[in-house]
Amino acid sequence: MKNLFGKFITALVVLALILGVFSMITPSFNEPTVVSLSQVASAVKSGEITSVVVKENTKLFITTKDNKQQIATKEVSESVSEMLTNLGVTAEELKTVDIRVDNEKGVGASLTSWLPFILPFVIVLFVIFFFLRQVQGANNKAMSFGQTQARMFNQNAKNKITFADVEGNKEAKIELEEIVEFLKHPQKFTSLGAKIPKGVLLMGSPGTGKTLMAKAVAGEAGVPFFSISGSEFVEMFVGVGASRVRDLFKKAKKSAPCIIFIDEIDAVGRQRGAGLGGSHDEREQTLNQILVEMDGMETKVNVIVMAATNRPDVLDPALLRPGRFDRRVVIDMPDIKDREAILKVHAKDKPLASDVALDVIAQRTPGFSGADLANLLNEAAIATARANKKQIAHQTVLDSIEKVLLGPERKSHIMSEKEKLVTAYHEAGHAVVAHYQPHTDPVHKVSIISRGRAGGYTLKLPTQDKSLHTKQEFIEDLAMILGGQAAEEVFFKDVSTGPSSDLRKATELAKAIVMEYGMNDRLGPRTFGDKNDMVFLGKDLAHARDYSESIAQVIDEEIEKLVKEAKKTAVSLVTKYKDQMDAVVKELMTKETLERAEFEAICGAKPSK
Ligand code: ADP
Ligand code: ZN
Repeated sequence: MKNLFGKFITALVVLALILGVFSMITPSFNEPTVVSLSQVASAVKSGEITSVVVKENTKLFITTKDNKQQIATKEVSESVSEMLTNLGVTAEELKTVDIRVDNEKGVGASLTSWLPFILPFVIVLFVIFFFLRQVQGANNKAMSFGQTQARMFNQNAKNKITFADVEGNKEAKIELEEIVEFLKHPQKFTSLGAKIPKGVLLMGSPGTGKTLMAKAVAGEAGVPFFSISGSEFVEMFVGVGASRVRDLFKKAKKSAPCIIFIDEIDAVGRQRGAGLGGSHDEREQTLNQILVEMDGMETKVNVIVMAATNRPDVLDPALLRPGRFDRRVVIDMPDIKDREAILKVHAKDKPLASDVALDVIAQRTPGFSGADLANLLNEAAIATARANKKQIAHQTVLDSIEKVLLGPERKSHIMSEKEKLVTAYHEAGHAVVAHYQPHTDPVHKVSIISRGRAGGYTLKLPTQDKSLHTKQEFIEDLAMILGGQAAEEVFFKDVSTGPSSDLRKATELAKAIVMEYGMNDRLGPRTFGDKNDMVFLGKDLAHARDYSESIAQVIDEEIEKLVKEAKKTAVSLVTKYKDQMDAVVKELMTKETLERAEFEAICGAKPSK
């Protein structure tokens, strides 16, 4: 807008200049008087006129003896002498007048006559010109719509990312070594008749370092890296995605050998023909184009497409066929050793105090992805800067864990004493129910400081990373989730709105136990409802239920039974350990937060299995 305004001002200045020049070349007349032809004739007769200049055949510029200027107009067809003779001027009298014909069009004179006509055109032209330029700017953007938005990274020695920058994932690295070899020495493989793989699918949760890994492959091989996100293909205009894919591959082929990295490929690569509505057509076209480009790439062209997804289960089978994304590499969540290593990488450029024990922090962060860990150290650095300290302390990092997990503390959230008491009993309920069951994780922290949307929180941490869970663990977890509400019921004979999110969590867990994990005796070892299909509204409406009405009723009954039994367990535990509850609450009311040691000082060590 500012730009447009500027151009408008320029246009005005230019116009003013042109007008100025015009007025300068236009001769200024000293106000001639207009006379009739008969007046001219009589003036000639009386010898008052010295000269007549005829311009453009009609205009007479007359100069009198006393040097006055006059103008008269005659018909085109007559010459001046004819005209004067017709008006009774004799030949002698005519000779006294100097008659000249000036047929050259006077620049000034003609301009003054033309200017009124030209000027509006000039203005209109200027306006059109400038607006056109504006529109053209936008137009150019529209023209480049079909071009890829891909960002290209050409790693130079300085900012090169290698496998050393990606911690953990040893198996993935070994598998990707091969891709690096393909990119570096393709002849080695093609001479043996081997086909170079075209697609590698990186599968893993968000933040586990898939992008980082793809960049590392490019860095190791020393080839350019084109990165685009699947969601960027899908725009509001149909056909854009496909043309972007075409453009992306064209650009990539030009700088082969190289890597194309498509993040979130599930945004375009979901199973086709599954949806309602127009946007799906667009997605399908884009996906088809990707397949066409991958199939169309000659074996000589050394372009490898790497794609990342955290939902490999929803991908269209066509994407996974041989010759497409047939290499699949799993990028794992980091385990405790990897977490420590990742923390080390991200601690490199941060001044840590000598008391910081990264192994303890790794222990406290199960379920954290690489990105979460990077974020954790960043949060700790921010907190340290805000406290005007020079070094990041161990406690600051620990505090940041909760911030990353649950959101920032809400110090402004002031609770009344009664609210505080209810929250304390609620959290003590969670903690006690967790503590006195053998299969739950130990309680690490109980707090009534509100964080994010939670009124208070109870943190329990597994003693080791777990990837398998048993039915008994789930059942005990369910009781612990309901422990808060149970405590409110037992100690206040009433429940608050506090536990509503607990209830949702409990229902979800119970549902998963019954429907997903096949852990119900009455229903048998099978799953209910095709979870993969639930991604699409269209399929959901049609197929999600793969069981009968009568089974649906059994499912409902079994979920209810699980939740009710868990609640009973919770109520009996908070009743049985009433004294411990009261003691924990008393501590919480003064200290607000209890660490594991303080909690176990009241309740004793966790009973073993
Ligand atoms: P994804 O693509 O899987 O969502 P990213 O590659 O974008 O994850 O990872 C985000 C950031 O997290 C990285 O830039 C890096 O700083 C950090 N990170 C994730 N995994 C690792 C890892 N294994 N080693 C080191 N840093 C990691
Ligand atoms: Zn709760």
